[in-house]
Amino acid sequence: MTARILDGTKIRDEIFAELKDEVAILTSTGIRPGLAAVLVGENPASQLYVKSKIAACEQLGMASGLLTPDASISTMGMLAIVEDLNRDNDTDGILIQLPLPAQVDTKRILEAVDPAKDVDGFHPVNLGRLVSGRPGLVACTPAGCMEILRRNEIAIEGANAVVLGRSDIVGKPMALLLMHANATVTICHSKTRDLPDVVRRADIVVAAMGKAGFVQADWIKPGAAVIDVGTNRVTDAAEAEKLFRSFPARLEKFRAKGNALVGDVHPDAVNVAGALTPVPGGVGPMTITMLMSNTVKAARMRRAKAIPRTISAGGPSGAGAR
Ligand code: NAP
Repeated sequence: MTARILDGTKIRDEIFAELKDEVAILTSTGIRPGLAAVLVGENPASQLYVKSKIAACEQLGMASGLLTPDASISTMGMLAIVEDLNRDNDTDGILIQLPLPAQVDTKRILEAVDPAKDVDGFHPVNLGRLVSGRPGLVACTPAGCMEILRRNEIAIEGANAVVLGRSDIVGKPMALLLMHANATVTICHSKTRDLPDVVRRADIVVAAMGKAGFVQADWIKPGAAVIDVGTNRVTDAAEAEKLFRSFPARLEKFRAKGNALVGDVHPDAVNVAGALTPVPGGVGPMTITMLMSNTVKAARMRRAKAIPRTISAGGPSGAGAR
């Protein structure tokens, strides 16, 4: 069996097209959704992430702003920036690019963001809403995984779903979203016993551990849907040989570049799973997509309550709530 490839880039393009229409309609009523990004210091990876988020805003016709405080900023300085953005009516989404410098109290800053503008879905108020199944803003990566499942019509109701990882930004919200969609959910972590046996019972596997190729092909139930959140850069040649032993083209590419991006699931799983997200090109493109979706949703919830929805409740902006 060769798994159906769940193409995140294709879904991103579909959702972007829907969001573009919704942004145009909102803008025509005087509400142009806007995202403000706060990028502290000069971390090159963070600069790249923020640049692509701003480019996505531009692509969709949304407003965007970038604040770049110096790396020496204090917690109080950051709080003042967040409070200004909370007060600014044109700012619908506030993105605090992590990591923040060591002297800044990250938790305090994230909790200072107005929950109505918390487009990363990190605020305890939004986490609480997710727990109780109430509408709110949901963390982008798990919300993106749900879009992949739904738009590929993978049956969730009644399915046994196993989530590998229990972080606040991926594993926990993912498990809650699957539970609200009526899956029977098992959450695994580093202390879980007999992990292969637990995974073997899963109709849906979501791997979010940060361990390259850890989940072996023979742990996967034949026909299961595999959502691979892991994004691991492999640089060791021996490790690459093991991961890509059945994929000569990928091995060739690794040898040419000296590194490769690999998920938490061994690439051989493609021969056992029924459907699988590739790495790269699966979950990766969905995170920024759901950030855009959350910003439009935040604009609609806060400023456009009276304006009728233009896309179906199953569409991207509705995905977060349940
Ligand atoms: P994290 O905070 O480091 O959490 C990792 C989780 O995996 C923890 O709950 C840990 O268990 C569990 N774990 C580690 N080793 C394990 C093992 N041997 N068996 C079972 N569970 C194990 O990571 P994260 O932020 O959730 O991210 C996870 C992965 O997703 C990373 O590769 C990250 O790069 C990727 N990611 C990708 C995107 C994207 O856009 N594609 C977005 C976010 C994250 P304990 O709790 O017991 O320590």
